[in-house]
Amino acid sequence: MNLHEFQAKQILRSGNINTPRGLAAASAEAALEAARELGGDAWVVKAQIHAGGRGKAGGVKVVKSLDAVRTLAASLLGQKLVTIQNAPDGQPVNQVLVEETLPIARELYLSLLVDRETERVAIVASAAGGMDIEEVAHATPEKVLTETCDPLLGVQDFQCRALAFALELTGDAYKDFCRLLPALYRVFLANDLSLLEINPLVVTTDNRVLPLDCKMSVDD
Ligand code: ADP
Ligand code: MG
Repeated sequence: MNLHEFQAKQILRSGNINTPRGLAAASAEAALEAARELGGDAWVVKAQIHAGGRGKAGGVKVVKSLDAVRTLAASLLGQKLVTIQNAPDGQPVNQVLVEETLPIARELYLSLLVDRETERVAIVASAAGGMDIEEVAHATPEKVLTETCDPLLGVQDFQCRALAFALELTGDAYKDFCRLLPALYRVFLANDLSLLEINPLVVTTDNRVLPLDCKMSVDD
């Protein structure tokens, strides 16, 4: 069973993981209210569908006025969004997530999944995250790193450090990452997930690390 991004982020928050502040909305008016409640002067409006590739399909946009939030939400809601992952049929957008915008310095890729071959949870990471990760994995597989977790020990410190180092994280970003990874592992186990994919995991301009997108599949 796949969860929507806003649901996945709620689960992350319940596991003490920082995410951008955001509110889901099922109408243009509710989206406007959400933006008002969040405050600030820019928002990201994100179509909630069970498929990625939304950014390139116009389903994720930054807007800079309350009026633009309402207009964009109105144009997304009730329509089908066709992305590279759900073409040609697309999926209906019944909700949008209105979120604060974050100043992004770098976009990384991070996922946890059940590796059927080793029968263990694998952590997959890449410094080349963002909207072209499929291409990266295909053209330059050496840019994709994997760590396998011992079921009795979970994610170990040396694995966090090795990945943080390979992702070229320093200072607060390094600390954030080494705290984040075990927390994600706990969320993964506690919720019987088969996939927890964060793309992008961002490094902000003030050198903090947090998930900007989240895809969760529950093993039902
Ligand atoms: P998808 O993977 O479906 O394309 P994402 O949630 O990954 O959707 O969003 C696409 C891109 O939009 C991200 O790579 C990021 O650059 C940008 N973005 C998403 N959320 C935010 C946010 N809260 N603040 C700033 N930029 C964002
Ligand atoms: Mg994404």
